[in-house]
Amino acid sequence: MKELILEMEDYAQEKNVPIIEKKSIAFIMKYIKEHNVKSVLEIGSAIGYSAILMASAKDDVLVTTIERDEERYMECLKNVKRCGMDKKINVVFQDALDVNLSEEVKYDLIFIDAAKGQYIKFFEKYKYFLKEDGAIITDNLKFHGYVGKSDKIESKNLKGLVEKIENYIDFLKDNEEFKTDFYDIGDGLSVSVWKDEK
Ligand code: SAH
Ligand code: MG
Repeated sequence: MKELILEMEDYAQEKNVPIIEKKSIAFIMKYIKEHNVKSVLEIGSAIGYSAILMASAKDDVLVTTIERDEERYMECLKNVKRCGMDKKINVVFQDALDVNLSEEVKYDLIFIDAAKGQYIKFFEKYKYFLKEDGAIITDNLKFHGYVGKSDKIESKNLKGLVEKIENYIDFLKDNEEFKTDFYDIGDGLSVSVWKDEK
């Protein structure tokens, strides 16, 4: 398992796959243990790195993870099988904005880590699948240090993307339903919980 994790780190570096930073996944694994998380929904599997580590945080955690890129999905499936996690991790090959999950299943933790420009859409869609005492964790809120400095960015594409992350942060700060804590860990994380337990 440890070897596989190292292999995945090498693969990600070689192929430019943006896997989560070590400190961030350590934070999430600790969160899973401390809050007795049993079910995780991940938006953006890539090659399964974070899904495998979340699933390994505790014996009884089940992870559903969604990926729209075929090559990464295949790589993710392969990695999940190789570490014998096929019973704990369910990999869905689809655009997360098109997925129709069963409305009866709610999750303890939702981890948003897919297209940064669509974070508000993911949040608004998937909050209905979060348990009353669950949390939504989002990654890459600093976006390599660009967030908060979008006015100084020259590349149009990058500027647009960073502005969307800045909008997402404002959306979380102003949110009437959720209370969010922001953490300066790795590439920036947030943890959002329902304001009033429903
Ligand atoms: N969570 C992973 C890294 C994910 S990188 C880890 O830390 O190990 C983000 C991934 O989200 C990419 O592989 C990308 O293909 C995928 N993605 C982006 N937008 C998506 C969408 N709308 N639906 C599903 N997957 C998406
Ligand atoms: Mg990330």
